[in-house]
Parts: sequence; C-alpha cells; structure tokens
Amino acid sequence: MSEPTCEIMTAPTIDFTIDEITLRTIVATYEDYFSVTAGAIALDDFIIVIDTLIYPRQAKKFREHAEAKFGLPVKYLFITHFHGDHHYGSAIFKDVEIFSSDATIERMKRKMKEGWKQEDFDRWKEEDPEFAEYIDEIEIILPSAGFEIERTISNNDLQVEFYHSGGHCAGESYAYFPNEKVLFAGDDLATRQWPYISEPCGDPEGWLRAFEHMLSLDVNLVVPGHGAIVEPEHIKEQLDHLRELKHAVLRAISEGKGSDDIEIPEFYEPAADWQIPRAREFLYNYYSKVR
Ligand SMILES: [Zn+2]
Repeated sequence: MSEPTCEIMTAPTIDFTIDEITLRTIVATYEDYFSVTAGAIALDDFIIVIDTLIYPRQAKKFREHAEAKFGLPVKYLFITHFHGDHHYGSAIFKDVEIFSSDATIERMKRKMKEGWKQEDFDRWKEEDPEFAEYIDEIEIILPSAGFEIERTISNNDLQVEFYHSGGHCAGESYAYFPNEKVLFAGDDLATRQWPYISEPCGDPEGWLRAFEHMLSLDVNLVVPGHGAIVEPEHIKEQLDHLRELKHAVLRAISEGKGSDDIEIPEFYEPAADWQIPRAREFLYNYYSKVR
C-alpha cells in the first residue's frame, strides 16, 4: 500500500458519530464543526428529532439510523434556534411537523430577508469547494408551528417538554425528556468551552434564568448544542461563570472603564478566538442598557 497523501489525510468529511445515550435517546456529533450535535428521542409511537446537523446528507443518515434503530417514524423536528448549523439539514424533514419557538420563526423570517441568499451559499462553496455538493442540498425551511414559552408533546406515559430561553440568541430553546432525565440544552451550552455569548439578539439575563431552570429539573445527562455530553453539574459551572462575567462587566461599567478593561474571569478556552473580544463588546453594551 502506498503512503497516504496529505490530501487524503486531511480530506474534509461530513462523517459524524452517533451515541446511544439512554434506551430512548441517541445523539449525533459532528466533530469537524465545533462538535455540533443533533438528537433523537423515541417515544412509544414516534420519534422527535432535535436539530439536523449542517448538511441534509447528514440529516438523512441520522434520520435513517434513528428510524431503523427504534422501528418508528419521525413525527416532529424541533429546531433549537435559527443558526444554520442546527437546521440546514431540514430538507430531509419536509414530511414531518417542524417546530420551534415563535421567536426562532421570527428570526428566521428576518434572516431570510437579509441573508441565506444564493450568493451566500455560493461564497461558502467557494471557500469550501470540497463540500459544494452537500451545500447545494441545503434548503431553508421555516418551521410550520411555534410556541411562545413552552410546549409539551405526550405519547402514552412519555412526554417531552420544550422551553424558550432566548439566551444564546433570540429564540434559543431547549428540550427536556423527564422519563429518562435527559436535557437537550441547545446552544446555551457548549460544554467545556467558553460560552458563545456575542450574538447581538442574545439575552444574557434570559440565559441565566434558563440555566437556573435547567438546574431545577431532574436531569442525569445533558446534551449540549456543541461538545461532549455531560452531567448537570457542568451547567452549574457555566452558570457560575456567567454570573462572574456579569459582575465583571457591571464593575467595569460602574468604574467608568471601557469594554477592553473588563476583567474576564478564568474559564475554559473559547473554541474560536473571536469569542471573547465580541463578548466583551456585546456584554458591555447589553449591561449598559439593562442595568
Ligand atoms: Zn450552534
């Protein structure tokens, strides 16, 4: 066998892993894109899918895996928030009810006016030509049903609860499966990483409330929007950091300092180097207004 070439060794992949985390829940993780996740919960008669990964090709594979494993059809697709890495695979779910928070639908409508144009996808294909055929399959599909604050889907003795948080971004939501004590936290949680806290439409106070609510639930396993599956103690760690961060921001504001002077408390490393500079600016502006 010849030596593998560099090209082969670094070949881009849409491959992802699937973990069976409880009897009724599975989680897909696409490591090559900030370990973004998607999930599936099997109730007695149908499956609820949570987010789609990035490419319809990935969504198709995940859906087929879930339907074959559980021997059930998918009936619902829940979109945690409007960022593409969580719903670009929606084209595979046109035959099921796609739902999200009302605020997510609102954000998606706005984004459809401003972006998600063919030229945006063409630019993406130019940047990542190896993924062009997968990018071509992406369709933006607006959820057909929304909920304002919460929604519950029941099936016999099983139920899944969905809650709006609005933390990481407007519309951000999470799902809770009490029967197996699993929480799907959406992008309010990027495990063992610095939080993605710079989206201008995000709401840090809503984020704190969401973490407090998540910690009030009876949970064994937490599936983040990005990263590894963790125990709920990690939410407490992230909550403590957000609180410290808030106080550091308030201190800088009250002392008349600028956003560059915020003393960022020690925490995990960010996954991208833009995160902390953007967070400084965002949090400074946010807490200057809501204080
Ligand atoms: Zn994300």
